[in-house]
Amino acid sequence: YPPPPSRSGGARAAPLSLPPTLPTAPAAAAARPSSGTGGEPEAEGPSRATAMLRHLLLKLRATGPVTVAEYMREALTNPGQGYYTQRGGIGESGDFVTSPEISQVFGELIGIWYISEWIATGKPKAFQLVELGPGRGTLTDDILRVFNQLASLLSKCDVSIHLVEVSPKLSEMQALMLTGGKVESNPKDESAYMKGISKTGIPIFWYRDIQDVPPGYSFYLAHEFFDALPIHKFQRTEKGWCEVLVDIDPEVPDQLRFVLSPSSTPATKNFIQPEETRDHVEVCPEAGVIIQRLACRIEKDGGAALVADYGHDGTKTDTFRMTQGRTATLGPIKQREFLKNMGIDLRLQVLLQNSRDTATREQLLHSYDMLMNPKKMGDCFNFFALLPHHRLVHPDKKHKPESKSPLPPVAGFGELLLK
Ligand code: SAH
Repeated sequence: YPPPPSRSGGARAAPLSLPPTLPTAPAAAAARPSSGTGGEPEAEGPSRATAMLRHLLLKLRATGPVTVAEYMREALTNPGQGYYTQRGGIGESGDFVTSPEISQVFGELIGIWYISEWIATGKPKAFQLVELGPGRGTLTDDILRVFNQLASLLSKCDVSIHLVEVSPKLSEMQALMLTGGKVESNPKDESAYMKGISKTGIPIFWYRDIQDVPPGYSFYLAHEFFDALPIHKFQRTEKGWCEVLVDIDPEVPDQLRFVLSPSSTPATKNFIQPEETRDHVEVCPEAGVIIQRLACRIEKDGGAALVADYGHDGTKTDTFRMTQGRTATLGPIKQREFLKNMGIDLRLQVLLQNSRDTATREQLLHSYDMLMNPKKMGDCFNFFALLPHHRLVHPDKKHKPESKSPLPPVAGFGELLLK
């Protein structure tokens, strides 16, 4: 979510806006170093190219236009200069803020969601909490505080934390937040690249890829993670579907621009559905792959995934297709509805009653408004969940509907009923 307007700093999204009409890339550009731009001097002063822009200009001069996905991958996670790799940028003094950075209540309610699922599935004797893209580690820290407060309930359960993070800079910040910095790098006999123990005594492991996380009953969490993955952009034209590419602007030194591929590309053939009716489509193949991995893991070993991100039309059908029927899905539901169903109002009342000074009370009300107001984060973020089919429907319900007690409802996706 963008920081307040008074603050400077780049937004997380690509620094380009899409012009209404796009120039078309030269037919053979993808295989040809572009001529003419190589010897141009870099502008001095405020428009001087950043290290990342210089890197992209070199790459584009060598290869010609690249897909938006490739551009995003370079810009965000290139090991040398990538945005996440080098800057982090999240938090009150960063380039963008996320819900867990705004209020501790957010993570606490998510922690309660997992505990509620753990109880509803018969309190398995071990679970892994697997977070994808944990940012500064704030969300896991708030969840771990809830687990610690419920220590007597969890005392017989073997809990471990597994963080999937590509950014060395952010994994360092996570380690500091969660363990106080006491971590071991490249531990022997582990698929993790780092491990440590949380301040509350729970083992934590770091990985670059979800496939490295050991199998087992797991709760997955992806907050503003899918949104950070590279997307392909497509445009319907008179010649059929074309792909939006990123190229060097020949008119302005050191500036990039969007262009259209002169004809279809492998991506337009593979990623556009024949029944597509829109004229402009964004597709994130990596998100599809990761959703499928989550669905396979949940189907095989049990658990649940909670995903929260910016919403878009048609999510539900897309999600069903991605999971290939391996799991059941709940949502998407707006953030303000999910948090209300999770009891945010009650939690706010308790915190307000317990806080003595006006400044703290004002801060609590302000952060509640940021999370819940439909004009702020309340409506633009959505929650959805992947669950094993048997969590929602008894396997033999069809045959003997009267023989089983009703399954407990999944918290957050229906109205909160107080007994
Ligand atoms: N969940 C956090 C941070 C969101 S920002 C919050 O809500 O505050 C996106 C996070 O995903 C960052 O931690 C970033 O480094 C990480 N990330 C981006 N691409 C990734 C990838 N391909 N694999 C793993 N982590 C990735």
